Amino acid sequence: MSIKKQIADVVEELKEELLALSRAIHGNPETGMQEHKAARWQKELLEKYGFTVEIPFCGMPTAFRAAYPSKNPNGPKIAFLSEYDALEGVGHGCGHNIIASGAMGASIALAKTMEANGVPGEVVVFGTPAEETGGGKIPMADAGVFDGFACALMVHPSDRNLIARHGLAAQSVDVEFFGKAAHSSSPGDGVNALASLIALFNGVDSLSHTWTNESKINGIITHGGAASNIVPDYAKASFTVRAGKKKTLLGIFRDLERVAQSAALLTGAGYKVAGADVYAERYPSMTLGEAFKANMESLGEIMNYPDYSAQVGSSDIGNVSLVVPAIHEYLAIAEPGTVIAHHESFRNAASGPRADDVVLLAAKGLAMTGLDVLTDDDLRARMWKEFDEKVRPNQC
Ligand SMILES: [Zn+2]
Ligand SMILES: [Zn+2]
Repeated sequence: MSIKKQIADVVEELKEELLALSRAIHGNPETGMQEHKAARWQKELLEKYGFTVEIPFCGMPTAFRAAYPSKNPNGPKIAFLSEYDALEGVGHGCGHNIIASGAMGASIALAKTMEANGVPGEVVVFGTPAEETGGGKIPMADAGVFDGFACALMVHPSDRNLIARHGLAAQSVDVEFFGKAAHSSSPGDGVNALASLIALFNGVDSLSHTWTNESKINGIITHGGAASNIVPDYAKASFTVRAGKKKTLLGIFRDLERVAQSAALLTGAGYKVAGADVYAERYPSMTLGEAFKANMESLGEIMNYPDYSAQVGSSDIGNVSLVVPAIHEYLAIAEPGTVIAHHESFRNAASGPRADDVVLLAAKGLAMTGLDVLTDDDLRARMWKEFDEKVRPNQC
């Protein structure tokens, strides 16, 4: 029997456990860095099948690294990525319960079939918390935990089957101004922090047209004063900035710092600009994507290419794709056109019968693609050639 057929059989044997895990995570939504149950359930399942689990990992209580002790570790190392955070108020409206269960199935099935067939190499699954709110993969990628791996593999549920979708770089930036309160009848006694904040918004508008086409900024005022008869001594805005590349975003951040400085000078207020970790743009490996596509088609799924003019979002898989060949492909759990962006319709789909099928399909397709990487020297050479040409020049 072919090893790929064995992979499919192992996933079918795991079916009840994988679907129970998917439903348990879906029914117990936990937001970023609070995913204690989801992390524990994955740890227990992995340990049951012989993995050694390190948790907490990389300074995050709900992150983990789980490795299967390979009898022949002198081969490529495959990383599968799990996500399991939910959305405040919406629950699993992004379907990460499917990502987690698919990653568990893929890693167990690949490790077991490698062992049974003497395939050299190693399987590791990373539990990556808080994809939605901060990006657990960012400190992991920065710490070098993916160094030495041949590839990183994951899927995400969607309303259609897609490979090779791109993603934008993104960063949250907070700007604060510190002024001096005064009665509004004598404004000259105060320093108006809100006036600086309004100048900041106008300055951002003036500069934003100089940024590259994909660059977008959206800002809200979170603090603008307490009462209209008091000159505001404190004002704060939060921005989400997106750009085609992390490199571009770093330049926009410097622009924001300069505008904030000039807006502060205008009134004499103090100021502070704070940028969160940057979600890097995504470089989907086309070589790996084609291998995944062929495997999914062998399982009866038609895989499509994205509309490259469509709007795309941002995810911390981008940071991983900057350090190792990576895929983050999409499998449909809902009809095309379903609202997939953090909506209750997608949450409901994420526990439906098609979602269960997708857990098993994802596990099989990811494990088969991992096997391709382990056993096909030419595939690995083409993956890294693509990486060296497309990705490495953008590392920063
Ligand atoms: Zn998601
Ligand atoms: Zn999401």
